[in-house]
Amino acid sequence: MVLPVRSRRPFRPQVRTFAPVSSGAAPAAPLPTQSFAELGLTEGMLQTLERVGYSHPTPIQALTIPRALQGRDVIGGAQTGSGKTAAFAVPVLERVEVGSPDVQALVLCPTRELAAQVTLEFEKLAAHLQVEILAIVGGDSMGRQLDGLRRHPAVVVGTPGRVLDHLQRHSLRLAGIRIAILDEADRMLDMGFAPDVERILQQTPKQRQTLLFSATVPAWIHRLAERHMRDPETLSVAGEMELVPTIRQWCIECSWAEKEEALTMLLDSPQVRTGLIFTATKRNADLLHAALLARGYDVTVIHGDLSQRDRDLALERFRKSRVRFLIATDVAARGLDIEDISHVINYDAPSSPEDYVHRVGRTARAGREGVALTLITPIEILKIRDIERHTHRAIERHQLSDLRLLAGSVGELVG
Ligand code: ADP
Ligand code: MG
Repeated sequence: MVLPVRSRRPFRPQVRTFAPVSSGAAPAAPLPTQSFAELGLTEGMLQTLERVGYSHPTPIQALTIPRALQGRDVIGGAQTGSGKTAAFAVPVLERVEVGSPDVQALVLCPTRELAAQVTLEFEKLAAHLQVEILAIVGGDSMGRQLDGLRRHPAVVVGTPGRVLDHLQRHSLRLAGIRIAILDEADRMLDMGFAPDVERILQQTPKQRQTLLFSATVPAWIHRLAERHMRDPETLSVAGEMELVPTIRQWCIECSWAEKEEALTMLLDSPQVRTGLIFTATKRNADLLHAALLARGYDVTVIHGDLSQRDRDLALERFRKSRVRFLIATDVAARGLDIEDISHVINYDAPSSPEDYVHRVGRTARAGREGVALTLITPIEILKIRDIERHTHRAIERHQLSDLRLLAGSVGELVG
């Protein structure tokens, strides 16, 4: 990388390799190298997988699918973006009884955006089957959901609140559930859904199979497993805090007052094709949104205080590349699988290394490249050290003055 720099304090990019450093956590089972065919799937499923372009199982899929097919309870741990959805959707679809009037599988997700994503993945993977998949989430029309329930879906994907609503109205019956799935269980806990999840599980048959997936495995999951799972097998793929090797990371030191300037310099770079920008609070998200709009940026915002309609709209526009930048808070962006985000920008530093991993996990998905940029004030520099320690990866440091010197070619730095 040749940079046109003239300065008394020369700009020396720290050259570091981005090879993943082992976090010391060994895979829980022999590294899977199989094909989907070796996992014992039906011909119909194999054809669908081929058609959707999944040529090989991801490690978590290779580990958990055979166990889940045997009917075992499984706790699957793998970093975000590792294909956990298909890890449960494939065995669930292999095990549902086509033509049964019962809801046979219930998937609980922490947010309606995630539920929508999981529903889409199920629909994709059920292409060879005559089964209905229904999403029942808050903010969506009750009427539509009641109609959907009358069509005897085999799989229901829902958020805990709305599932409980339907249980209270007796519009959803869980007596025929054969498999319960808790997706992104750690987020469910973060969002305060732990009691709801347990209440829902209590209304499903005891002899059901339970699959639980999570990026991290907090203590609640072990307690829940003791109470609600039968001899679960824990299968996890890598260190919980591992970042995919295709992410490049920079942080830019600046003062609070300089943050907006630093951000706009980054956004002006053509290499930053699409950017997901994180703020610490909803208020900061709104303030930054207004500031960027006033400066003429193509930007929208998503956070928990916006109406569901506005959140859906913002996400849809960003997903379809109709808007270049999306400002988000942590909760609103959790687990979202948006294709092809070139840059994740932490306008406000994340509050923990774990949040950092979740945020930057929105880029470099499915083997693609991505860049994570963090604006950091001098007093927060310890946060970066903490993140480096937890992720076993170096974050290259720069000063705002470096960006200023590079004005116009910031892209060389961040691209
Ligand atoms: P997670 O839930 O672990 O964060 P997702 O289930 O959202 O991950 O999957 C991340 C991305 O990887 C999705 O875009 C999905 O379509 C893709 N994917 C999943 N399994 C495979 C596979 N076997 N081969 C290729 N791509 C896959
Ligand atoms: Mg997921």
